[in-house]
Amino acid sequence: MKIARIETIALRIPFTTGGQSAGGVWGAKDLQVADSLLVKITTDSGLTGWGETFGFTAIPAVKLVIDSILAPELIGRDVTSREKSMLDLQKKFHVFGRSGAFIYGLSAIDIALWDIAGKAANQPVYQLLGGSEATSLACYASLIRYADPDLIRRNVQRAIEAGYRHLKLHEVDVECVRAAREAAGPDIEITLDVNCPWTVREALDMTEKLRPFNLRWIEEPVWPPENYSGLAAVRKHGGIPVAAGENASTLMDFQHLLEASAVDFIQPSPAKMGGITELQKVFALANANNVAVMVHTFYDGPGLLASVHASAALGGSKALVEWRYFDLEAQLYGDAIIPRNGRIGVPQGPGLGIEPDPDVIRDYRLEL
Ligand SMILES: [Mg+2]
Repeated sequence: MKIARIETIALRIPFTTGGQSAGGVWGAKDLQVADSLLVKITTDSGLTGWGETFGFTAIPAVKLVIDSILAPELIGRDVTSREKSMLDLQKKFHVFGRSGAFIYGLSAIDIALWDIAGKAANQPVYQLLGGSEATSLACYASLIRYADPDLIRRNVQRAIEAGYRHLKLHEVDVECVRAAREAAGPDIEITLDVNCPWTVREALDMTEKLRPFNLRWIEEPVWPPENYSGLAAVRKHGGIPVAAGENASTLMDFQHLLEASAVDFIQPSPAKMGGITELQKVFALANANNVAVMVHTFYDGPGLLASVHASAALGGSKALVEWRYFDLEAQLYGDAIIPRNGRIGVPQGPGLGIEPDPDVIRDYRLEL
């Protein structure tokens, strides 16, 4: 069975977040639309598979790389030589960077090929990865940055009322974290993602102030993201567990992160770092190093499903799935994937297990 066609489909879906966004590294202040990029692969026998790439404001660049460079390389290749194809293309294009548009594009293609593999075998992807008895996984509500204690209190309460027991904040100041902990009470697990703002010294000053709020982890506290010795210093002296990995790419980068003893929680992002093929290797590497994997999933299409299948099969009972806490005007999968009581279902159908809603694609398609 050969790859016959690769299409890229950009979507733009309006959302609200229970108050105005303060902006952050991935989007503008008061942003009200979420852009995503899907990849649809069709085989010569008519099977289709869906992937998703990380993108937001970088989507035009990723789309161009897939359409004009990666897709022509892949048409005609056998779908079962997925691992070889991914390695061939990583080698062929390594001079253009080991992260960014090329690897993001390959990630989406890899996820779509896993979807096809599952459909061809009539098995869900988690089964291909070793199987799981879990029918659902705990997830955490990943809140946007509000930078406003009142909005944080309101949205923390909203998420808890919706059933979440685990929350992630994207705030960078102490008063915002204090507001969240006061609103949540002592029993809700809170993590803090600051997206690489500080020097090591600044990060240590901040962890000292943040320690009373009992954070489960602090995520990407130092600049730049690949400052692994800096992360290790914060981990050693900061008194708060450290998480990072969403900006690591390729297996060797994760190895370096682990060799530096930089993290308590490692966060590969399947739509950024090489798809399910690379993700399963990071799970193995992290397990060998006794470090927990918390898959980064700040997206809600096939990339999210990839995360759910891998976490179910490889993540153990403590794995948490990230759920972007946006109120989207439309969901690509309708109600099928929306968490209930803070848990997300593990799809049981073949491949990724759920098909995108064609009406959502028609109504929210973005022509680039
Ligand atoms: Mg993050």
